[in-house]
Amino acid sequence: MYKLLKQEGHARRGEFTTPHGTVQTPVFMNVGTQGAIKGALSAADLKNIGCQIELSNTYHLHVRPGDELIKSLGGLHKFMTWDGPILTDSGGFQIFSLAKLRKIKEEGVKFNSHVDGRHIFMGPEESMRIQANLGSDIAMAFDECVKIPSPKDYVQSSCDRTYRWLKRCKEALAAYNSEDNAVNPGQMLFGINQGAVFADLRIEHMKKIAELELPGYAIGGLAVGETHREMYDTIEAVEEYMPKDRPRYLMGVGTPGNIIESVARGVDFFDCVMPARNGRHGHLFTWDGIINIKNEKYLRDESPIDPACDCPVCRRYSRAYVRHLFKAEEMLAMRFAVMHNLYFYNSLAKSIRDSLDAGSFGAFRKKYTLNLEVSQNESYPYCRCSPCGRRIFHDPDDGADVRRLLLLLYPSRK
Ligand SMILES: [Zn+2]
Repeated sequence: MYKLLKQEGHARRGEFTTPHGTVQTPVFMNVGTQGAIKGALSAADLKNIGCQIELSNTYHLHVRPGDELIKSLGGLHKFMTWDGPILTDSGGFQIFSLAKLRKIKEEGVKFNSHVDGRHIFMGPEESMRIQANLGSDIAMAFDECVKIPSPKDYVQSSCDRTYRWLKRCKEALAAYNSEDNAVNPGQMLFGINQGAVFADLRIEHMKKIAELELPGYAIGGLAVGETHREMYDTIEAVEEYMPKDRPRYLMGVGTPGNIIESVARGVDFFDCVMPARNGRHGHLFTWDGIINIKNEKYLRDESPIDPACDCPVCRRYSRAYVRHLFKAEEMLAMRFAVMHNLYFYNSLAKSIRDSLDAGSFGAFRKKYTLNLEVSQNESYPYCRCSPCGRRIFHDPDDGADVRRLLLLLYPSRK
C-alpha cells in the first residue's frame, strides 16, 4: 500500500509496500525483461547497484521458457533468486510492437510469437493467468498501446475496450489470487491510463479507471512517438485525476531529465531500457553529463567513469581500463557499463528522494534536468540499420524500442 510522506509542489516522496518489501519512491525499476538484465547482470548484482524493484516481461517469459514452467519451479522470485519486489508488465506493449500478424477482438489479441511464429492468444484473463503464474508483486493490466499519432475515434474506442479489459483483469486476478496454490496471493493489479495525446480522452479514461480502486495506476502509451512537450502536457492533464493515495507509474520513460521533470509533475515509478542499452554501446551517464567511453581522450585516463559515483565499477576501475575492454570487445566491458549506468539511475532516484526529504527538490531540478543530458563528447555512432540512419544508441536486434528511444532522445528529428 502507498503512503505519501511528503510533497513539494506536485512532486511526491512516498513508500509502497509489496509482499516482497517496501519500495521508497520516487523509484527507478530495473528492467530484466527475460528474468535477467541485458548486459549480464544477475539478481546478486541487482543488490549491489541499489535496485529496489525489478521488472520482467509477461510476453517474453510466456513465450520462453513458459510461465507454467516458472510456476512449477516456485515462481519468478525463486527462479531468478531475487527476493525483492517484482513488477511484470502485461504483454500488451510487446504484442503491439513486437508480434506479427495480430488481430484485436473484444476477447483479446491473436498474434504470432516473434520467437518461433506459433499462434498465441492473449486477453485480460490470459495475461493475468501468466502474471499470477510468475507470481510478481505488481501485475500490470492488459491494455492496447495505441500508436501516436492515431485517429481520435480509434483512440476513443480503444480506450473503451481497454477499460472493459481492465474490469476483466481485476476479476480474473482476484480469482487467481484466491486459488490454493497461488504463487503470490498478495499480487496487486495496476491499471493503465491510455488515450494517446488527447487530454480529454486521457482524463475521461483516468476518471473511469480510478473508480475501480486499484492499488496503483500507470500512465501508458507515452514515449511512443510524441514530443517531450506532449508527454509532459499529458502527464499534467491527467495527474489531478489520479488518486493521491496510490502510486503513479510512467511506463517506459526515460532520460534522466525526463525522470526529474516527471517527478516534478507527480510521478512515482519509472522504468526504461535506456541505461542498459546505452551502456552496452559505451554511452555512460555521469553527474556531469553523458560520456562515450570509447573516445580516444580516455586512453590514459586513470580516473573512474564518474568521480562522483560509488558503484562497484567506479570504486575499482579506471576509464582507461573500461575503454580498453570496449576496444577489445570483452564481455566485461558491457557488464561494467550496464552496472554503472543502472547504479547511476538508481542513485538518481535516491538523490531525488533525498532532495524531497530535505525540501530542496526545486533546486535539484534546476541544477540537473538539463545538465545530465549534455554530452561531453560528440562521437555517438550512427545507426547502421536502414531506414533509420540517424544518430542513436541502438541495438539492431531489439527493433521494438528503437523508435520510442529515438524520439525520447531526439524528439526534434522525427
Ligand atoms: Zn559508477
